[in-house]
Amino acid sequence: MLPVVALVGRPNVGKSTLFNALTRSRDALVADMPGVTRDRHYGVCRTGARPFVVVDTGGLSGEEEGIEGLTAQQVRLAIEEASVLVFVVDARDGLLPQDRTILDELRRSGKPIIAGVNKTDGLDLQNAMAEFAVFGIANTLPLSAAHNRGTEDLVASALTLLPEDAHEEIEATDPDSIRVAIVGRPNAGKSTLINRLLGEDRLIVSNVAGTTRDPIKVSLERDGRKYTLIDTAGVRRKARVEEAVEKFSVIKTLQSMAAAQVVVVMVDARENLADQDLTLIGHAVDEGRALVIAVNKWDGMDSYQREQCQNALARRLQFVDWAKTVFISALHGSGLRELMKAVVRAHHAATKELGSSELTKTLERAYEGYQPPLVRGHAPKLRFAHPGGTNPPTVVIHGSRTKHIAPAYRRYLENFFRKRYRLEGTPIRIEFRDGE
Ligand code: GDP
Ligand code: GDP
Repeated sequence: MLPVVALVGRPNVGKSTLFNALTRSRDALVADMPGVTRDRHYGVCRTGARPFVVVDTGGLSGEEEGIEGLTAQQVRLAIEEASVLVFVVDARDGLLPQDRTILDELRRSGKPIIAGVNKTDGLDLQNAMAEFAVFGIANTLPLSAAHNRGTEDLVASALTLLPEDAHEEIEATDPDSIRVAIVGRPNAGKSTLINRLLGEDRLIVSNVAGTTRDPIKVSLERDGRKYTLIDTAGVRRKARVEEAVEKFSVIKTLQSMAAAQVVVVMVDARENLADQDLTLIGHAVDEGRALVIAVNKWDGMDSYQREQCQNALARRLQFVDWAKTVFISALHGSGLRELMKAVVRAHHAATKELGSSELTKTLERAYEGYQPPLVRGHAPKLRFAHPGGTNPPTVVIHGSRTKHIAPAYRRYLENFFRKRYRLEGTPIRIEFRDGE
């Protein structure tokens, strides 16, 4: 599973700036838990050798309440969730008493700590760092999150402290089975769907204690096909109060998407598509996963409501117009055959092997049809292509001046390859390489 790194520190030291630099995210997934003063943000850092989840814990005053009450709850959650803690301090403010309070709390966890001394831009580095040497933290690194400096070292250092991730464990499951993550906001109908697919009698109630962070894998055989459903918190019944609160676990959602081949994003037809639905879909795409959108609770909607819903979906899901949308009722079990068909198709497309000579031919045809716009009188050249992997299908294109290729042209190529190979249900990755 993807390991977790938490950013902790006083307000205004630059945690969100650092979060954005690490995740390069358009949108963070937000866990807006009741009783938490500032939302926690979640994203995936993919800039290093291995990906990991980053949590921005929000503001910690470390002041009035000591580090008690709600703020303490945030640190505790971060400590609980993370394998490595990044303690962020502000080089311009210097060392403040609140920093020490927070550090004490972090130390009590016994987890590895990296001190990130931020806002060192324009400062004398030696001076700036000297003040924080008293922490005695071996990994004390200068940062300028705003200028994306020092972040590479931070990522490298986090990776050495993180446990080897257990991706292999999930991948070691039956190679014939399709790994499917079922994700969605609370009450979208995830557990209803999984129970319906499994048959009510096989309802699983594992992890009653609610302490295990790992998503659960469930084997399913249906119409002669094998699936491994990777469940987020959804299936677990609300056995305990804490579970109900943390039912939508962003970390589990990110982890199960990373471990899956196909992601089914469930949305509730009765709620308009929420921003968080779109963010989830965006994450699945960033992760390179095949995608199916299941619009649930289609039962009991009249034709007017259905039309409204379909229009809204068509409008807001244009950025994933290659993904199949199916309308289901998890409660009544309708549409499930179509849903699983879409999963199989998406998986098939995502794992299709593409041959080099055919890719190059397709590239030539695309290039003849429409060439990338000139840059200072010279056009970027695209010479040949070869496959760079599956799930998502990756096309490596060699040429020159490729860094001048505009996003619109990249999309043109994506669509061209998509049509040629009928890659429905999966994102496509295009990597440009200059030179030979
Ligand atoms: P958070 O409350 O810890 O999440 O802090 P923010 O990320 O919101 O940053 C607080 C302020 O510090 C903002 O005005 C940022 O622009 C600024 N800031 C963040 N990182 C840096 C940095 O590396 N250098 C400088 N000079 N300012 C920064
Ligand atoms: P989860 O939080 O995503 O696991 O959602 P649940 O499976 O717990 O479902 C939330 C609520 O929606 C429950 O009351 C379900 O009975 C209801 N629900 C789930 N699927 C459907 C459906 O297809 N139609 C209708 N009408 N209700 C549903």
